[in-house]
Amino acid sequence: MRFTPNKKGLIGETLEEFTADLEQAKFPKYRAKQVFDWVFKKKVHSIEEMLNLPVDLKLWLSENYEINPTKVVLDKRSNDITQKFLVQLGDQSLIETVLIRAPQVGVGQSDSRKTVCLSIQVGCAYGCKFCASGLLGFKRNLLASEVIAQFMHMAEMDSKDSVNAEKRSVPFDNIVFMGMGEPLANYDALVRVLKILNAPWGLNIGARRITVSTSGLAPQIEQLADEGIGIRLAISLHGATNEVRNKIMPINKKYPLEVLIPAAEAFHKKLGRMLTLEYILIDGINDGLDQARELAKIAHRLHAHVNCIPYNKVEGLEWKRPSINRQNKFVKVLKKERVSVTIRREKGHSINAACGQLKLKTDLALAQSESQPSNPFNSPQ
Ligand code: SF4
Repeated sequence: MRFTPNKKGLIGETLEEFTADLEQAKFPKYRAKQVFDWVFKKKVHSIEEMLNLPVDLKLWLSENYEINPTKVVLDKRSNDITQKFLVQLGDQSLIETVLIRAPQVGVGQSDSRKTVCLSIQVGCAYGCKFCASGLLGFKRNLLASEVIAQFMHMAEMDSKDSVNAEKRSVPFDNIVFMGMGEPLANYDALVRVLKILNAPWGLNIGARRITVSTSGLAPQIEQLADEGIGIRLAISLHGATNEVRNKIMPINKKYPLEVLIPAAEAFHKKLGRMLTLEYILIDGINDGLDQARELAKIAHRLHAHVNCIPYNKVEGLEWKRPSINRQNKFVKVLKKERVSVTIRREKGHSINAACGQLKLKTDLALAQSESQPSNPFNSPQ
């Protein structure tokens, strides 16, 4: 399903496109930069606040554009300082944005490192078996403005909240596309968003702070390398052989490891960025020591860091988290093979912060109260 809003979202435009729009409407092109300064630097909420614009331009803007086409309908903070927004879109769809605050070595504050996790689709079509988005599938791609909107909402909340806000040149240490949806399946919007995040006329965020996570769309991985935006890439591997991966990630049948690994290798060679292999440890499914040994081979070939994440239980799905003992044995094999590895004891249990679970529960509750079909999604990618 495609969503076409009545007005375009200013925060989803590139300077080039917006300048062309302005010129077509017979306004001088230098006005584009002024408008973008109000939107991305001064972060105003209304066109009325753009004080140096003439009345006719404000009127034209109001007729054709809105700044941020979304609103936050739920703001939940967990005890372990993970915060989650439920964001409502123009067609009433709901998506999630998560902020994770973590300690930073040497800084001495418990919440000094901040990562914002953005969604890129409503639901997901890829049906990974451990992920609740497979329960009801895909609704639609997000517009670039709806993705940037999530960032803007989080940044605004954080600037009001944080004692360090004024000392930061950018609000977050990392921006990760690991929320709902497969980023490379919404390729055009993703590339547009990356440009807006990275550009000096936009949010001016260094590309190396941005990580795109994919379940393994090999052709788009190579295409993304050609865009020349030096972002980081994370591959959601979750299985180190085709046999295991086929069982839990249908995408592997289309792009098996012998196709995916060379694409990731090409990305690494072109951009010189270290890759990350995300590996959710699921009890009895992919946490055997044979998988650890195969994973080590892939990590060496890709010069990749491995990030192990013990599975976060999703209501309605059968999978379980391995015992600490099994987790440790898996990691020990990787370390013995001299792989760079971390195990993430994930934050946010108390607010269901594994991507999608807040939406899952909210949708289920809404469905119960309204007796309408719900759209529960979950994307631990
Ligand atoms: S893990 Fe990612 S690609 Fe797989 S179904 Fe969930 S959101 Fe989609």
